[in-house]
Amino acid sequence: MAGSKFAYVRNFELPDPLLPGTFMVLRIDGHAFHRLSAEHEFAKPNDERALQLMDHAARDVMNEFKDIVLAFGESDEYSFLFRKSTALYNRREAKILSTITSLFTSSYVYNWPTYLPGVPLKYCPSFDGRIVLYPSEQVVRDYFSWRQADTHINNLYNTVFWALVLQGGQTTTEAHATLRGTVSATKHEILFSRFGINYNELSARYRKGSVLVRTEVPEPEAVETQPSETNSQDQTSIPVVSDQGSRKKKSKPRTIIELLHCDIIGNDFWNSRPNILA
Ligand code: ATP
Ligand code: ATP
Ligand code: MG
Ligand code: MG
Ligand code: MG
Ligand code: MG
Ligand code: MG
Repeated sequence: MAGSKFAYVRNFELPDPLLPGTFMVLRIDGHAFHRLSAEHEFAKPNDERALQLMDHAARDVMNEFKDIVLAFGESDEYSFLFRKSTALYNRREAKILSTITSLFTSSYVYNWPTYLPGVPLKYCPSFDGRIVLYPSEQVVRDYFSWRQADTHINNLYNTVFWALVLQGGQTTTEAHATLRGTVSATKHEILFSRFGINYNELSARYRKGSVLVRTEVPEPEAVETQPSETNSQDQTSIPVVSDQGSRKKKSKPRTIIELLHCDIIGNDFWNSRPNILA
C-alpha cells in the first residue's frame, strides 16, 4: 500500500538493531518495590510468595521466548540471557525490551492473586527494563556472578537487619547504625550469637536466588507412527519418513524449564550446561 501523504513520518522511526554476535541480557527490575512491598505487607526480609510470583512471571516469559537460555532472579529483579545467535524481532532493541518487560509485568499482575490470596493489589505495579550486550562468555559469566554475589550480600544484610528489628527490638535507624561498617563475618556472628540463626541453613532460594534453565528430558517413548489407514484430515499426524525409510516422528528433544537455587559463580553449573553459552 502506497499510503497517505502523511506516511513519510514513518522515516522518523530510527532503526535500533542490537549488535549481532553478542550476548544479550535483558534485566527487569520492579519500580519502587520498596514501597510496593511495604504497602502490601511483604514478610521481611524475604516474602516467599512474592519471590515465587517473580519466578512464575519469568517462567511465562521463557515459555513464550524460546531463545532465552537462562534466567536469574532475586528480590524484584530478573535477568534473561538470550542465545548468542538469536534473531528475535531482527534484534530490534525497543521491540524486544518492551514486549518482554510488558509480558513479565502482565504475568506478575495476572498471577498476583494466586500467590498472594487475600492481598488485593492497591495499584498497578510496573517494571523497568534494559538490555545490555556482552561480548564474551567470560563477561556473561561475570555478569551472572555479579548478580548472585549481590543476592548474597543483600540477603545477609537484610537478614541481620530484620533480626535486629523484629527480634532484637531495635528501630530501623538503630539497626542500620549497628550494621554500619560491619564485615560479613561480624554479621554471621551477630546472627548466630544473638539470634541463634545459622545463615548457611537459611533457604537456598534466599541465599542463591532463582535460576531457570532449560533441561532436556527423555522422550516418554519413541513413537512408531503407523501408516494411516483412514483418510485422515489431520495433517499433523503425517509421519516424517527418515532416510532409512523408518517411519519415526522427528522432533526436537523435549525440554522443561527447571527452577534451581544453586551456585552459578563456580564452574560446575556452566560445565554441565555447555549449551547455555554455545
Ligand atoms: P527502584 O524503582 O529504583 O528499583 P526499589 O524500591 O524497587 O526502587 P530496589 O533496589 O529494586 O528498590 O529494591 C527492591 C526492594 O523491594 C527491596 O529492597 C525490598 O525492600 C523489596 N522487596 C522486593 N521483593 C521482596 C520480597 N520478596 N520480600 C520482601 N521485600 C521485597
Ligand atoms: P505486531 O506484534 O507486529 O504489532 P499485530 O498483529 O499487533 O502485530 P498491528 O499492526 O499492531 O499488528 O495491528 C493490530 C491489529 O489488531 C489490527 O490489525 C486489528 O486486526 C487488531 N485490533 C486491534 N485493536 C482492535 C479492535 N479494537 N477491534 C478489532 N481489532 C483490533
Ligand atoms: Mg533499581
Ligand atoms: Mg526495584
Ligand atoms: Mg531491585
Ligand atoms: Mg498496532
Ligand atoms: Mg501490534
